[in-house]
This record gives sequence, structure tokens and C-alpha cells, in this order.
Amino acid sequence: MKWPAIGYIRARSLDDLWEAQRTHGAAAQVLAGGQTLLATLAFRLSEPGVLVDITRIPELRGVSLAGGALRIGALTRHAELARDPLVARHAPLFAAAAPHIAHPAIRNRGTIGGSLAYADPAAELPACAVALDATLHLLSARGERRVKAEGFFTGLLSTLLEPGEIIAAVEVAPASPAQRTAILEVARRSGDYAMAGIAAALELDATGRVAAPRLAFFGVGDRPVLANRANVALAGRVLDAQAIAAAAEALGDDLDPPADLHGPPEMKRHLARVLLRRALTQFLPAKEMAA
Ligand SMILES: Cc1cc2nc3c(=O)[nH]c(=O)nc-3n(C[C@H](O)[C@H](O)[C@H](O)COP(=O)(O)OP(=O)(O)OC[C@H]3O[C@@H](n4cnc5c(N)ncnc54)[C@H](O)[C@@H]3O)c2cc1C
Repeated sequence: MKWPAIGYIRARSLDDLWEAQRTHGAAAQVLAGGQTLLATLAFRLSEPGVLVDITRIPELRGVSLAGGALRIGALTRHAELARDPLVARHAPLFAAAAPHIAHPAIRNRGTIGGSLAYADPAAELPACAVALDATLHLLSARGERRVKAEGFFTGLLSTLLEPGEIIAAVEVAPASPAQRTAILEVARRSGDYAMAGIAAALELDATGRVAAPRLAFFGVGDRPVLANRANVALAGRVLDAQAIAAAAEALGDDLDPPADLHGPPEMKRHLARVLLRRALTQFLPAKEMAA
């Protein structure tokens, strides 16, 4: 299908963006990588009056370490997440997630801000942001606010973003030497959205005891799901086969997956349990894995 007739403004600064919003009000929609938005226009699923291209706004770019946190600008593309040395060192979960997203052409244009704002429940980066306890910097003409990723996603394709507000950056605490992370998913074909996936982050001390476990699941709810009961089942325990079994058991109470085109809720629960076991098994000391 063809796109509807639509206006286009290239914002070169935040002031340009606020000005476009003042002029066009609710008709103005932010355009980042365009990998989702342009498809929804073609299918007439959205019909903004004006696209405001934010990709030239310098404040939304770049990856940096500042004030003891890793700041990832909203315009950071999926492909950049995969190869950025600061991301690899301080937030390796994001780097590991990027190759799971779609295909190279989409990864070369899609942005982390666009992915978080769109809030597809089967997307990888929202779940990683929840697993890493990320803080999102939201900006509008009214000022800045910071919200935790965990509370940012409010339902299917819904977030806390208010009219006129954008995601400026994602901030995470740099990974400690004790941190272990993994992302695993099941998809019908490579590059498809996941039928079910896990983004896992926890710390293991020298004795193999788990601290700060944050297992987040995607593709199994209307938003990323932080598996609170599974996390409680793991916290403070030495990570071994029994601890993994306890977490897998507790996970049943964390998830209430809807049936979707991939299958019934019970299948999703099963996939999530399998992924939990696989992810945690990766963190076991070598001798435990061999046992
Ligand atoms: C065929 C295909 C397969 C895909 N497979 C996957 C997949 O497996 N996993 C996955 O996670 N994603 C997948 N995607 C989506 C891809 O990751 C997109 O890049 C991403 O969802 C949107 O990012 P974008 O920068 O392209 O945003 P855009 O398409 O430009 O915008 C998407 C939405 O977010 C808003 N927006 C964009 N940036 C901001 C911002 N900084 N602040 C506030 N609002 C903003 C826009 O107004 C729009 O509503 C796929 C897309 C396609 C077309």
C-alpha cells in the first residue's frame, strides 16, 4: 500500500522538535529509524499529519560513561549496540541482544529509543532494559524526567510516554565483574520476533551464590515480564541444579501468557521454563555443567 499524504520536518535540535510540536500538536509524530513507523504508515495503521525526523539531534546520539553510569543515546542503532566497545564492556546484554533483532538492514536503521517507545512485547531491547534495571531519560518541552524501565511499559504497545515526550537516552549501571547476563529466545525463523525469550541478569559471588537476580521474559505477555517469583527463588541461593529447578517451578506463577498465533498459553509457559533453565545453566561453574 502507498503511504498517506504526510508532511516531513527534519529537526536539527531539540528546539526544532519542540517548535514542530508546538506548531502541529498531536499531528506531529517522531520518526527515528522508521523501521516500524514507516510500515505502520504503509498499512494505514497510523496517520500522523507530520513526521518529525529526530535523527539529526545531537543530544540523542552517542554512548558514554558519565557519573558512574553507561548512557546510551536513544538514536543508537541496533547494529551500533552490537559493536560499541563501551556497550560490550559495560552492558554486554544489550550487545548480545542486537543480533537477535530482525535482519541486518533493519538493525542498521532501527534505534534503541524507537524499540523502547514502540514497546512490542516480543521485542528484545525492552526486556533487556528491564533485566538491567535501566533508567530511561524522557524529555519534553516541559523538561526532563527519569523512569525505571520496569514501570515504563504499561501494556501492549503502551508506555508512560506522555504527548510531546521522547526518550532521550537509556542509562544502566556498568556491569560488575560478578555480573552474568544472557539472552535466549525461540523464534520460528532467524530474525522473526520471538515466540518466547528471556533476558537474564544476576550476580554470582565467589561461592556461586546469586545476588540481584533479574530474569525478564519477552513474547509471553503484553509487555516485558519481570519474573518476580523466580527471582525470589534464586536470590541468596548457591546456583546449582536445585536452585534452577526451584526458579523454573516458581516461574509458573509469574507468567500469564495470552494465546497468540504461535500457540496456547501452556506452550509459552513451557518455552519460558526451557529458556530459564538454559540461561541459568550457562552461569553454572564448569564442574556443575558436566554433572
Ligand atoms: C520485518 C521487521 C522485523 C522486525 N523484527 C524485530 C525483532 O525481531 N525484534 C525487535 O525488537 N524488533 C524488530 N523489529 C522492529 C525494529 O527493531 C524497529 O527498529 C524498532 O521497533 C523501532 O525502532 P525505530 O528506530 O525504527 O523506530 P521508528 O519506526 O522510527 O518509530 C517507532 C515508534 O516509536 C516512536 N519513537 C521513535 N523513537 C522515539 C524516541 N526516541 N522517543 C519517543 N518515541 C520514539 C515513533 O514515533 C513510533 O511511534 C522488526 C521490524 C521489521 C520491519
